[in-house]
Amino acid sequence: MTALVIAEHDNASLKPATLNTVTAAAHITQLSGGEVHVLVAGKEAAAAAQAASQIAGVAKVIHVEGLHFEHGLAENMAAQVLAIASSYSHILFPATASGKNIAPRVAATLDVAQISDITEVDAADTFERPIYAGNAIAIVQSLDATKVITVRSTGFDAAAATGGSAAIETLAGVADSGQSTFMGSEIAKSDRPELTAAKIIVSGGRALGSAEKFNEVLTPLADKLGAALGASRAAVDAGYTPNDWQVGQTGKIVAPQLYVAIGISGAIQHLAGMKDSKVIVAINKDAEAPIFSVADYGLEVDLFTAVPELVAAL
Ligand SMILES: Cc1cc2nc3c(=O)[nH]c(=O)nc-3n(C[C@H](O)[C@H](O)[C@H](O)COP(=O)(O)OP(=O)(O)OC[C@H]3O[C@@H](n4cnc5c(N)ncnc54)[C@H](O)[C@@H]3O)c2cc1C
Repeated sequence: MTALVIAEHDNASLKPATLNTVTAAAHITQLSGGEVHVLVAGKEAAAAAQAASQIAGVAKVIHVEGLHFEHGLAENMAAQVLAIASSYSHILFPATASGKNIAPRVAATLDVAQISDITEVDAADTFERPIYAGNAIAIVQSLDATKVITVRSTGFDAAAATGGSAAIETLAGVADSGQSTFMGSEIAKSDRPELTAAKIIVSGGRALGSAEKFNEVLTPLADKLGAALGASRAAVDAGYTPNDWQVGQTGKIVAPQLYVAIGISGAIQHLAGMKDSKVIVAINKDAEAPIFSVADYGLEVDLFTAVPELVAAL
């Protein structure tokens, strides 16, 4: 059984979720025997292919070049994956916006059921995935010939980015599907770490009261800690922060080393996005707030006094 991981990259380097997806693939091949291959399809993506070849546990990298792969458009990526799919028992994508855009097209064309958002590999055909906002774990067995899987990156450690020496095979790519065209992108520039890759996250809730207060109180703490900033949905809906800062069931799933929840009640939909964080610190003035049930350290205080004091002490 050979597992294929679809690399997510910017043509120069790999996105971190690729490494977690390789670990999931390696668990499968350890149980079933076989190899892990990685597909890098891009434009002038030799550096990304080279990076993939160095991941520990990868046996082969398939490098495909094409102008139409530059931005990872799902139509072209799905066609490329399908062109080589018959060689693989398992095809794995990171459960990111990109992976979730490509995987269903592959699964539907192969006429198999997609296995989404796995957090554990029990056997080569059996996987665990959270349901009901993480309150229950479904154990899913698939009898399909090809398993098309998306991998929740917080469920698996990142594979070592170095130490491997996989062969790189260059393949001719499929033609441009012509079904979609890349028009442009607007990417928010930030000096902060990306939320899903950050080791420390400072996250704020409705209690901050305004965008100005959110910035005034939380930014100095995030700066001191070198942290990414996150938010509850209530804070996002109230316009305190951009949408892409939202952590939770309908936002980003994160598992940093340290998650500091400030003025966040801890609704299950928020916990679904952060409760796997290694250490959780909660600052809330309500002793009954559910966030304290998952917190390793809790401060039952007014955030507007405690956070500036914390910043001064750091
Ligand atoms: C389908 C669905 C999906 C959802 N998805 C998400 C999601 O992805 N992410 C998410 O976050 N939510 C999500 N929600 C919303 C969720 O249910 C909560 O409404 C939301 O998380 C509440 O945000 P909050 O904790 O900031 O606000 P609140 O619940 O209002 O909590 C504010 C907290 O701040 C504390 N506080 C107030 N003043 C101070 C002060 N001065 N000092 C210290 N503490 C103070 C209060 O005690 C309270 O605990 C979803 C809901 C639904 C129905």
